[in-house]
Amino acid sequence: MANKKQDYEGDKALAEVLFDSIGDGAITTDEFGKITRINPTAQSILGYSEDEALGQWFPKLCTAYDDSGGAIPLIDRPVTRAFVTGNIISEKIHYKTKAGNLIPVSMTISPIMVDDQPVGCIEIFRDISREYEIDKMKSDFISLASHQLRTPLSAIKTYSHMLSDGFMGQLNPRQNKSLKTIIAATNRMNETISTLLNITRIESGSVVVAKKPIAINQVIEEVIADHQLTVTDKNLSIKFSPVKDNIKIISDSVVLKEIIGNLVSNAIKYTPNGGQISVKLSTKDKTLIVAVSDTGLGIPESYKDNVFTKFFRGENVIRQETSGTGLGLYLVKGLVNELGGDVWFESTEGKGSTFYLSLPLLPQAIRTNKSVN
Ligand code: ADP
Repeated sequence: MANKKQDYEGDKALAEVLFDSIGDGAITTDEFGKITRINPTAQSILGYSEDEALGQWFPKLCTAYDDSGGAIPLIDRPVTRAFVTGNIISEKIHYKTKAGNLIPVSMTISPIMVDDQPVGCIEIFRDISREYEIDKMKSDFISLASHQLRTPLSAIKTYSHMLSDGFMGQLNPRQNKSLKTIIAATNRMNETISTLLNITRIESGSVVVAKKPIAINQVIEEVIADHQLTVTDKNLSIKFSPVKDNIKIISDSVVLKEIIGNLVSNAIKYTPNGGQISVKLSTKDKTLIVAVSDTGLGIPESYKDNVFTKFFRGENVIRQETSGTGLGLYLVKGLVNELGGDVWFESTEGKGSTFYLSLPLLPQAIRTNKSVN
């Protein structure tokens, strides 16, 4: 009996030493969220001593914030969700220290289960201020470089168009053909720059949308007109089915054109010569649905979970179409979120794909007042 007790005390002491030696912040709570243990690293990150922290209600002692500095309500806190769902939750959030500073942390919280019952939680977290700073510098750099690239590019574009329109004398067919290639490459470069700029905005939480009533039929017509050259070049047909009554929706036309432009551009890019593309508008339960269909390469079953992932490009399309960044649909997803809509697709390899976009028809709260461009 005495030996068992000694073993238990020994195990307990060892567990305590191990806990205190963890190089990341570590906190345990009981089933009510009260702090039962806090290791020295957690004390140094949060600025609370062991005496100040023990017995305190974790969500109250240590308030949490999202990327844009908004307080995370208790119900959405990882600690609550870990308790409610019984799942391990990993996230990046911000904690407020005792000194009142917000520090970004990468955390994992796991429920402690005894006989299938949650008896508390253990959270391990790491201060990621340095990574955060580097990430911000990277975004600022991309943003600056993209802006700087735009100016010379618009000069190339303007003069190429002037040459092609004959303002500087008649061109022979070979010159005309070369110029067309220059214009197409400039357009692609412009699209890439605009994608990069928008992605840095999404990732830094600085996308701003200006919602106002817009005639959706007209937006689609403009997007199709922007792509007419490539459609003709590839001998594709493109059919537009507008929505009745020229419905207006409350949204941001620049963001919307970027989203639908990406879907139409993919449909064109991944449909072999002679294929068909259609853009269909319909309404359902106070929602506008935009469906962009093509008779192209389609998306193999095994890739379907990945198409909205950053930098993803399907092997089947890379074989046929070398140009692409794998950023278009990642951007689309981010922008659709900003507009309060949804995006999804149906596709059969070798037959074609339909990408759907749903947007609320009713006015939505206007979040901010500037526009993405
Ligand atoms: P990119 O077109 O630059 O490769 P996207 O993010 O726009 O990047 O698309 C990601 C991937 O999704 C594409 O590489 C392709 O594999 C697949 N995809 C997207 N749209 C289509 C489409 N209409 N038909 C077939 N595959 C598509």
